[in-house]
Amino acid sequence: MKIFIGLLLFLSLGFGFEYNLKPKTITKGVYCFFGKLDKIKKENAGNIVNTCFVQTKEGFVVIDSGPTYAYASQAYDKMQNIAKLPVKYVIITHDHDDHWQGNSFYKSKGALLIGPRTYEQNVVASMQTRMERILGKELYGKTKIVKLDKIVDDNLTLQLGKTIFKIKQLEPIAHTKGDLIVYLPSVEVLFAGDLVFNGRLTSLRDGSLLGSLEALKKIDAYHAKFIIGGHGYKTDSHATHTLQAYLTTMKKKILEAQDKDIGMENITKKITMPKYKSEKLYDDLFKRTLVDAYKELEMMEDEE
Ligand SMILES: [Zn+2]
Repeated sequence: MKIFIGLLLFLSLGFGFEYNLKPKTITKGVYCFFGKLDKIKKENAGNIVNTCFVQTKEGFVVIDSGPTYAYASQAYDKMQNIAKLPVKYVIITHDHDDHWQGNSFYKSKGALLIGPRTYEQNVVASMQTRMERILGKELYGKTKIVKLDKIVDDNLTLQLGKTIFKIKQLEPIAHTKGDLIVYLPSVEVLFAGDLVFNGRLTSLRDGSLLGSLEALKKIDAYHAKFIIGGHGYKTDSHATHTLQAYLTTMKKKILEAQDKDIGMENITKKITMPKYKSEKLYDDLFKRTLVDAYKELEMMEDEE
């Protein structure tokens, strides 16, 4: 009975879903929470994303605020267990809603929100996000849409304590039309957002195959010791390789098919790439990505 009342109290206070977040240390002062390699479902309450935080002498900097208010609030509690410091900045890597819906929580804590121009263009208070639609009212809880305090169009260098954060948009279009990376020269860590995936497949619904490949090349040119993607558990200097190989193979196969005049309507029958079937979300995303990539490469051909 006591447990039951406790649970009721817990839910009624608006804590909602228990995310069970466990921060993993990447290197000194850099931590991440790794989400599931899955799509958004009620069972995971949107925890399919990687979010990170950096500890400096003056406070924390958060990279991506996660899927809900409750997620961010629980992440904040874990940070406070490490050090009783304020969150000064939250940097949003792009406008897909698994990455920024903890913003309203951090705003309530006085943090400054920084993100790409596309957030300002595409995120409006009146909209219903995909997260809200799938999770429903209860799990979405106190999540609200808030505006950014600072927009990064090209690049921005931030300093907190002694730590320097280099924020940059590498390509006009890659995973989306506004992907920011965050590089920490002092510890050689690069937060890549959804420019880097591993263990599961990505989507090109708002992006570009060629832009993604260019961005991956530019990420590798940093020679960072640690590269942290928006999804997936690899964080070493080779974390770009899975997606690079996948997109390079896809590009090659599509160009070969187009040379043989195979039309878009037949492309998903002709190209399967079974090597990637073991990657999560193959069934959900492979065919659609192939068609998106086909359209993009066909358009390039037409322009030549
Ligand atoms: Zn994502």
